[in-house]
Amino acid sequence: MTLRTAEAYLRGLRDGRVVYFRGERVPDVTAHPFLRLGAEHTALDFHLAEDAAYRDLVVVEDPDARRPISRYFLIPRNAGDLLARHRLIETVTRAGQSFVPLVKEIGTDALFALMIVGAHLERAGASYLERVRRFYAHCRDGDLTMAGAQTDVKGDRTLRPHQQPNPDAYVHVVEERGDGVVVRGAKAHTTNAVFADEIIVLPTRAMGPEDRAFAVAFAVPANARGLRFIASPRGFSARSVFDNPLSAPRKTVESLTIFDDVFVPWERVFLNGEWQAAGALAKIFVEFHRFTAISYKPPLLELLLGAAALMAEYNGIAAAGHVRDKLAQLVMYLETVRGLTKAAAQGCRLREGIAVPDVALTNAAKYYFAWHYHEMVRAVQDIAGGLVVTAPMEEDWQNPETRRDMERFFTGSGGVSAEDRLRAANLVRDLTASDLGGYLEVLAIHAEGSLETQKLTVLMDTDLEPYKAYAKRVAGIAAEAGTPARVPHG
Ligand SMILES: Cc1cc2nc3c(=O)[nH]c(=O)nc-3n(C[C@H](O)[C@H](O)[C@H](O)COP(=O)(O)OP(=O)(O)OC[C@H]3O[C@@H](n4cnc5c(N)ncnc54)[C@H](O)[C@@H]3O)c2cc1C
Repeated sequence: MTLRTAEAYLRGLRDGRVVYFRGERVPDVTAHPFLRLGAEHTALDFHLAEDAAYRDLVVVEDPDARRPISRYFLIPRNAGDLLARHRLIETVTRAGQSFVPLVKEIGTDALFALMIVGAHLERAGASYLERVRRFYAHCRDGDLTMAGAQTDVKGDRTLRPHQQPNPDAYVHVVEERGDGVVVRGAKAHTTNAVFADEIIVLPTRAMGPEDRAFAVAFAVPANARGLRFIASPRGFSARSVFDNPLSAPRKTVESLTIFDDVFVPWERVFLNGEWQAAGALAKIFVEFHRFTAISYKPPLLELLLGAAALMAEYNGIAAAGHVRDKLAQLVMYLETVRGLTKAAAQGCRLREGIAVPDVALTNAAKYYFAWHYHEMVRAVQDIAGGLVVTAPMEEDWQNPETRRDMERFFTGSGGVSAEDRLRAANLVRDLTASDLGGYLEVLAIHAEGSLETQKLTVLMDTDLEPYKAYAKRVAGIAAEAGTPARVPHG
């Protein structure tokens, strides 16, 4: 089978999946007035594969399958593969007006992590690797879309899964049968799961021996019996493309993904009770997934920079010192995130033959992006002015009487028309001060793991001993035998 068309992908979503939206059951996500826009957005990967301008980036000859596959499925073997993956994600996101489709990116991140952990488990006597490989081939050969459902609803964050008063706070196995397992619980915030063919479920944290039932990874089709989604429109409530040029025409949809005694056949179970592997699987998944994250962030930062520069020009302040200072900071912010991402690809390490992006650089990029995001939004809002939140709306623009006033009073510097200036201000509002603007701020902090998790990951992955030994040498403190002589990058 070759790559699917966008039409075939959308047809596949009409499979009886149980989706609720604003209190109502949705019979067909591709026909629903809101969700349809989300499905059309996630179809972007398929459209680009058919477009001659993008085909070489999206489609690649697979050395294993010996035929063209979607590049997302290419198992990265070196820095070049990771750099091409980064370029693909950045390009698709830019084509999506700064919104990543996230129906192949996150699923393949999960598959690569399952392959690495599967190889470890194989050596420890647990045979999951062959199942993972078969499931990977099923997704690759069918050119399928996959959501990644990792984040549990969790309940009390200080309690371990088995200690939770609500036994369903973490997805867990409630029954083992001859032919598979039955799982119960819910995953939160699952992006675009309602537009995916498969839902890949991973543990969200390290587990102890009493958490055995919660140490579970598996995949189910989106129309599996007992699986249902409560889809959220948050961030994307806008309808007018004039007022909200980003969030009105495109939608991203998170869901509460509920597993109400869902049966999973053995060939789709990738972890079942091996609690020692849960933390490693969670961590290796985010090592790939944060690389995906920092690959899809730049187009949003490009838009922030572009919108700020445009408003500076339209308001006649482009040459002002404080404006140039803020624009320079926006450029450095963008290029630091992108530069760290490329460096993370170049510094990859092979694990089980799969190239894993440099962990410290990936997490540094994600953290740097998240920590400075609100500061950059402040710079854009400062440059753009109050019109961003006080401008009359599209209805006023459509009424000839009020439009005349708007045309008279909202013209910009150098003869810029009121319409262009309003459109630029509307872009800034949608990016920074709308339903979407608030959503993007929370996304910056929490998506792909909240701030503290990046610090935890960096410290877990960094051996501090060589640095201490270096400090000792410089301080004149006697070194103990066997301490490393050089810092890792020295
Ligand atoms: C837009 C968006 C899209 C997302 N998409 C996906 C997706 O597709 N798939 C998926 O699986 N997940 C997804 N997520 C989930 C995301 O990974 C989580 O939101 C993130 O990991 C934080 O988890 P949380 O929301 O439960 O917040 P919490 O983990 O509850 O974090 C809130 C605060 O509590 C702190 N905290 C948590 N536990 C402790 C503790 N034990 N001790 C001290 N402090 C603690 C945190 O550091 C943070 O400051 C998405 C999130 C967003 C916002």
